Amino acid sequence: MNEIDRKTPSARSCPICGKPGEPEFKPFCSKRCADIDLNRWLSGVYAVPTKDDEDEDGERPVDGEAGEK
Ligand SMILES: [Zn+2]
Repeated sequence: MNEIDRKTPSARSCPICGKPGEPEFKPFCSKRCADIDLNRWLSGVYAVPTKDDEDEDGERPVDGEAGEK
C-alpha cells in the first residue's frame, strides 16, 4: 500500500491567494494574507447595514448633545 498519496498535513490553503498555508499564519500563507483577510472582515462588518429602519427615530447618536447652537 502506498501512503505517500495522502494529502499534505497542512490541509488548508490560503483563502486569499490559494497558496499552501503556513502553520505560523494558518490558514493563511503569510501575515500579509492574514492582514488582507482581517481587513476584509472588518470592512465587511462596517458594510453591513445595521438598524437602517431606526434612522427615523430622530435619536441619532451624534456628538451634538452639548448643544453647540
Ligand atoms: Zn496567501
